[in-house]
Amino acid sequence: MAADFSDWFDSNARCATHPHLEAASTCARCGSFCCEACLTQAWCEPCALVVMRAHLPGTARSVAWKLALAPAFLLVSTALWVSRGRELPTQWLAWLVPMGCALLVLRRHSPAAAWVGAVSSLLLLGWQALSLFSGGAELRLLDVGLLAIAPVLALDGAARLGRLFASVRVHEAIRRAG
Ligand SMILES: [Zn+2]
Ligand SMILES: [Zn+2]
Repeated sequence: MAADFSDWFDSNARCATHPHLEAASTCARCGSFCCEACLTQAWCEPCALVVMRAHLPGTARSVAWKLALAPAFLLVSTALWVSRGRELPTQWLAWLVPMGCALLVLRRHSPAAAWVGAVSSLLLLGWQALSLFSGGAELRLLDVGLLAIAPVLALDGAARLGRLFASVRVHEAIRRAG
């Protein structure tokens, strides 16, 4: 199959990114000649960078809202709690950490902030679960469990964002070298 496919090309055609290599196909985006190495990503080097950079904001947004969900919910319930004249819970300030991480992910597409945000959310929820348990409010553990879904999903998103960010860095390095 590969042999048949290469017959479609002039045997002198060279990869646009790697001129020392023979072309095996064309880029799915701009149509320039690509070698076997370029084909593993379906795009030529310049297009791979454009495509991956274009994916960063969407991936970052999907992680950011998952990180912001639990803090936003808890900030609202804390505000209600305080408006009923009760004391401000000490955990309130700690939730600003995942909230800040969500903002960093949104603005800087930072995979490190995504990891810190997801892990700190889960640790805070664990702390909350312990204090509910020792306070005899086991029924409210269900709320904590539900709130943990978003940061667990954010962990997966952080891994995806990390991979995407790393490939963008690799393609930028290739472009600089070339
Ligand atoms: Zn291309
Ligand atoms: Zn190539």
